[in-house]
Amino acid sequence: MKMPALDEILQQKLQVLEAKSQKRILRDTVPEGVQVMRGGKRLISFSGNDYLGLSQHPEVVAAARAALEKYGAGAGASRLVTGNNPLYGALEKTLAEVKNTESACVFGSGYLANIGVIPALVGAGDLILADKLVHACMIDGARLSGATVLRFAHNNLEHCRMLLSANRSEHHHCLILTETVFSMDGDRAPLTELAAFAKEFDAWLMTDDAHGFSSSKGEGIIKMGTLSKAVGSYGGYVCGSKILIEYLHTAARSFIYSTGLPPAAVAASIAALGVMKKQPALLEKPLANAKYFAQLLGIADAQSAIVPVIVKETEKALAASALLEEKGFLVAAIRPPTVPENAARLRFTFSALHEQKDIEAVAAIIKEQGWIAS
Ligand SMILES: *Cc1c(COP(=O)(O)O)cnc(C)c1O
Repeated sequence: MKMPALDEILQQKLQVLEAKSQKRILRDTVPEGVQVMRGGKRLISFSGNDYLGLSQHPEVVAAARAALEKYGAGAGASRLVTGNNPLYGALEKTLAEVKNTESACVFGSGYLANIGVIPALVGAGDLILADKLVHACMIDGARLSGATVLRFAHNNLEHCRMLLSANRSEHHHCLILTETVFSMDGDRAPLTELAAFAKEFDAWLMTDDAHGFSSSKGEGIIKMGTLSKAVGSYGGYVCGSKILIEYLHTAARSFIYSTGLPPAAVAASIAALGVMKKQPALLEKPLANAKYFAQLLGIADAQSAIVPVIVKETEKALAASALLEEKGFLVAAIRPPTVPENAARLRFTFSALHEQKDIEAVAAIIKEQGWIAS
């Protein structure tokens, strides 16, 4: 019997996803500050991660342009070969200062950082305890490592301690994974308590600060983050001890076997961190905007620049997002499998560039439509 061709098999898989409203599609979108142009229409975006508007900041763009002119478009090789542009040193020094660590290492992206660092630190016979809601790339890194992976209920210290008590002694090393700000819920991890567990159970705490952008303290001894969101450029990083960073240069496969970032991206990150240092008030604005939105809706106070409006059903989230787009607002519908079943939501992210009237207008629509699930 003739086997179905690849495309036939994939077509069937796509149909199954489509029937569940889980097929994803790309749409051309051009950001302009806090707005985007999509399908010939200008929308106010509540979906970007460029929290401070730095991707288009004149100083950041000028720095990228200068590096592009000076060094060309690409790095040409892995950092360990000939791709280690001198700009990296300045960027890593600044990151270590911001995160209050001895040293830092920049990776090609946040995703590459997580899938490189985790397997470099633990392997077969070791234990990973990960919060149920950590980002997909932390989970991918954990799986790649070959360590035993256990998930504790989201931000549930009791459950985390129970799993540590029951499993720690049978494993050699132990790594605890969490996020500073959770990407789909906008809440924060109990870092002080998790750091205390790490101490008590002889484990290492690794935090993902992709959605944080302050020099938050108590992030554990392995502090990972991205340059692709609030920093407005592209890349990922890990901050920690000098020895940790030296080791990663030799042990993190996604660092070793991937080409260095384009120099312009590195220059943009340096300039963006410079703006953040010069204008600390800018860093307060996204949270203030998120809090204003939560207050207008009468929902729980915002803990970060991310505010989910949970509508439960996937179809309802998609319809709500479509209606908002008609009315001039871009708000992503987040659905399973990115979030659990029956937890589909509109995910709002707030930027320093949002104006009060934009926030008021979008909140009014949500109230009018009665979208807030009780
Ligand atoms: C976006 C994100 C990443 C990946 O960072 P990139 O630089 O986009 O690859 C990692 N962790 C979390 C929590 C994220 O939200």
